[in-house]
Order: sequence, then structure tokens, then C-alpha cells
Amino acid sequence: EAKSMPGNSYFAYRSELSERVRDRQSIEVALLDAVANGQLFLQYQPQVDLATNKIIGAESLVRWRHPELGFVRPDRFISVAEDSGMIIEIGRWVLLQSCMDAAKSSAGGRIAVNVSAVQFEYGDVLGDIDYALKETGLDPSRLDIEITESVFVSKQDKTIGILDSIIERGVGIALDDFGTGYSSLSYLSKLPVNKIKIDQAFVRNLPEDQQSMAIINAVVSLSKHMDKKVVAEGIETEEQARLLHRAGCHIGQGYLFGRPLDRKEFCYLLTSYNAPQQKDAV
Ligand code: C2E
Ligand code: MG
Ligand code: MG
Ligand code: MG
Repeated sequence: EAKSMPGNSYFAYRSELSERVRDRQSIEVALLDAVANGQLFLQYQPQVDLATNKIIGAESLVRWRHPELGFVRPDRFISVAEDSGMIIEIGRWVLLQSCMDAAKSSAGGRIAVNVSAVQFEYGDVLGDIDYALKETGLDPSRLDIEITESVFVSKQDKTIGILDSIIERGVGIALDDFGTGYSSLSYLSKLPVNKIKIDQAFVRNLPEDQQSMAIINAVVSLSKHMDKKVVAEGIETEEQARLLHRAGCHIGQGYLFGRPLDRKEFCYLLTSYNAPQQKDAV
């Protein structure tokens, strides 16, 4: 019972909490000049066409190496950057850098960029996208913006208006981490998105987990009716890739195809991975 909670566990809780607050504060302070000091960099994780097994593009994932804190994982600093509003500046940098790298790549291919709900609510996402496209000359049809269901939580009409404008420019919208939020399947039809990314939570326990498989099948069949492509993330085994392809997922992403890589490593992977196989040459 809560009332009889021993005092020391309360203090343990308090000190753990304040440690976490201090942790977040030091991250926030350190993050302040991370962009200006060039501590952020991007890695690229391949996205593969499950039918042809060719790499068709990449998702850009932000990385932060601080001189004292060392390597800080995005799940530790993205939420701090969101709460402090710094994600707006970071997100603008990520967009520009991602488009620049994609435009430089001779192989072509798509680039998917994560954009936070905070950028939609308080930033100028459309302005940032237009700036990145104009500055780099990247063909808009090669860019995907990854959003999560959280962008629809507040100012829904405004968000939908922005998404419509993004799509008008020829840029794609992918709904990331699908299945972990609150929206119902029928709600999907109202959202201006071209791709659904099934969250890795549903892929992780395949092939054993029948419930995950049932959810994936439902998402695929609905997406087909709504003319949306389905991406599966977190694919780690050949068997998962086969299952998801058979279920009707178009695109796959995960350690099986490649971990997030520095730009140079990614370019190298792209060339070797997509080189014609012996059997294609016949
Ligand atoms: P996300 O957008 O869903 O990205 C996928 C995450 O899953 C990445 O973690 C990736 O490394 C990881 N992953 C990919 N394949 C596998 C796999 O086969 N197995 C497992 N276990 N994991 C896999 P990462 O890079 O740590 O990023 C975590 C989250 O941080 C991202 O989730 C995204 O929400 C956020 N994030 C990363 N970069 C950015 C960014 O530039 N802007 C914003 N707003 N958020 C970002
Ligand atoms: Mg993503
Ligand atoms: Mg995801
Ligand atoms: Mg995620």
C-alpha cells in the first residue's frame, strides 16, 4: 500500500529522479552548442526493396559525439532536444545535411529524414524542407519525411495542411513506428501519408509471434486499399524478411540488410550490394 511505503524507498526514488533531472540538464547544456561545434553527424541505414533485394535508399539517423560525455544515443538526447526546442535547429541541420549527402550520391536513391512533432508545432517544417531542397538541388521525389502519430495529437488541421503542402512538392511522407501510438486503423485513411512503417516491436518476435503476424497482415491489407506502401523495420533474420515479403510488405529495413553506417561506408555498401549478381547476368 502506498501510504505505508518505507521512507527510504521514497528518498531512493527522489534521488534517482533528481539524478535523472541532472542528467537531462547536463545533456541540455552540452547540446546547446553541439550543432555549432560540429558534434552532430549522420549515419545512413539501408532500405531494401523486398521483392528485388536491392537497396533503394536510406534513413538518416542523427548521432552525437561530445568531447566529455562521449557518444550519446539518440533515445537519450532527442527527447531533451524536443523539450527544450533545440530539436528545431537540430532538425533543420539534419534535413540540410541529409539532402546534401543524397544529392551528392551518384547512385541516386531515396533519403528518409525523421522530423519531430515539435518541429511541426513550433518550427517551420515547410520552410526548412524548401530551403534544403533549393540549397542542395535534390529532386523532391527522392525525399521522404518520417513522422510519428504524435504529430496529430495537437493542432491536427494545421499539421494536415503542412503534410498536404509537403506532398504537393513531390516529397513523400512515411508514418514511423506505426502500431505503437493510439490511432485506429480506420483513422489512417484520413492522414496524408504515402508509407506506413510497421514498428520493430511487431517484427522482433517473428516468426513465432502469431499476434504480431496478424497485426502486420491487417496493416498490409488496409494499406493496399489506401494505396500506401508498407515498410517493415527491425528485420534481423532472413526468415523475417521472407515472411514480411510474403505478407506483402514492400520495403525492409534492419540489421539483416545493414546497420546505420557513415556516409562513405554506406556508399560502399550500396555499390557492392546492388552490383549485378551472377544469376542476374545470365
Ligand atoms: P526510428 O526513426 O524508428 O529509427 C529506427 C531505429 O531502430 C534506429 O535507432 C535504428 O538504429 C534502429 N534499428 C534499425 N534496424 C534495427 C534492427 O534490425 N534491430 C534493432 N534492434 N534496431 C534497429 P537509433 O538510430 O538509435 O534512433 C532511435 C530513434 O531516434 C529513431 O527511431 C528516431 O525516433 C530518433 N531519431 C534518430 N535520428 C533522428 C533525427 O534526425 N531527428 C529526429 N527527430 N529523431 C531522430
Ligand atoms: Mg524513423
Ligand atoms: Mg521507427
Ligand atoms: Mg523509433
